[in-house]
Amino acid sequence: MSQSGSPMDVLSLPRPAWMTEDLVLLEEQARRFLDGEFVPHIDAWNEAGIMDRSVWTKAGEAGLLCASMPEEYGGAGGTFAHEAVINRAIALAGLDSFGAPLHSGIVAPYILHYGSEEQKKRWLPKLATGELIGAIAMTEPGAGSDLQGVKTTARKSGNGYVLNGSKTFITNGQHANLIVVVAKTDPKAGAKGVSLMVVEADHTDGFRRGRKLKKLGMDSADTSELFFEEVKLPAEALLGNEEGQGFVQLMTELPQERLIVGTAAIGMIERALRLTIDYVKERKAFGKAVIEFQNTQFVLAECKSEATIGKVFHDHCVERHIRRELDTTTASMAKYWLTDLQGKIVDRCLQLFGGYGYMDEYPISRMYRDARVQRIYAGTNEIMKLLIARSL
Ligand SMILES: Cc1cc2nc3c(=O)[nH]c(=O)nc-3n(C[C@H](O)[C@H](O)[C@H](O)COP(=O)(O)OP(=O)(O)OC[C@H]3O[C@@H](n4cnc5c(N)ncnc54)[C@H](O)[C@@H]3O)c2cc1C
Repeated sequence: MSQSGSPMDVLSLPRPAWMTEDLVLLEEQARRFLDGEFVPHIDAWNEAGIMDRSVWTKAGEAGLLCASMPEEYGGAGGTFAHEAVINRAIALAGLDSFGAPLHSGIVAPYILHYGSEEQKKRWLPKLATGELIGAIAMTEPGAGSDLQGVKTTARKSGNGYVLNGSKTFITNGQHANLIVVVAKTDPKAGAKGVSLMVVEADHTDGFRRGRKLKKLGMDSADTSELFFEEVKLPAEALLGNEEGQGFVQLMTELPQERLIVGTAAIGMIERALRLTIDYVKERKAFGKAVIEFQNTQFVLAECKSEATIGKVFHDHCVERHIRRELDTTTASMAKYWLTDLQGKIVDRCLQLFGGYGYMDEYPISRMYRDARVQRIYAGTNEIMKLLIARSL
């Protein structure tokens, strides 16, 4: 196994076995593109509270969207490994707010795995170019962890459906124009009454975007409220060939979503360590560099050890997922443990920056704020522990 050559490769680990030569090239290409095209705009986007719409088409042109979708539907014909490489590059670049991992790794797979041939041809190529931006609307003001409690309904009407309800905290909410909505087609049937409905937001009367929500972190993520009032949908808006499959579809796809969050966590941990090691080598106190204090060395030695353990476990999960062998229990462990670790390591790194670590102009400060939500979304870490406990 060869060593990875990135300046961000702060862990003394060989490349994982699943990292083939074409993935090494993809990693370099992604890093160059993100550093050149996106990183210089991060501050402006954070100030604006949203990234430019053009990031999506630029990312599409650069081959960074839907890399694991088959070529016949406009994707790059890769595997989950391609998504993992791109998502790590996004995290290493400090683009924590970019919703592309959700677009490519969560929304597109719903269409690929459950859509009809017509639906796949209609939506996937445009998701790959960034003409369409995906969102997944599960959470409602009254139902987050308990998804069976959603109140949004898709009522049968003639040949189609009428959608009513409101969603909140939806990633890509302002830009999204292809929204997978969790709705009840049979409100009395519990989990068996849940279906996934696809809304083409550009051409839909009764659909309205609410507030772009102000948040603790991820400043340029356009997390938003969405409203559906008597939205008329054609029969083809239903994902899958029969109603009531939504819950099973969600449970099948959620392990990948959880691993995607784990990849972001490990990427952000690597970035935090790199930034911190560079800083403590420069910063002087009591006549010596901060890294020369034994405390600094011990803290960073602990962080590097735990990050290494986390990365090895993460790569084990990716490798199993490429073989389609990642189970819900292990994916939940990855999400819970890696995001907890991220919170802990970023906090300890920030401490080593002293007062500068609290200043917005230092990326470690933003990373501290951005890290917090990782333990909440994609299923809270408490829900992850419930899922793990089922295997005991
Ligand atoms: C920035 C951001 C982006 C998001 N993006 C999306 C998105 O794109 N799409 C989407 O659908 N949602 C999204 N969410 C929503 C997110 O997935 C939910 O916030 C999350 O699932 C928790 O739901 P909740 O907020 O309703 O909390 P609640 O379910 O009300 O939970 C409150 C607390 O109770 C705990 N709890 C709940 N049930 C149990 C239990 N059985 N046992 C023990 N503890 C429990 C929780 O862990 C939590 O600590 C996003 C959220 C944020 C903040």
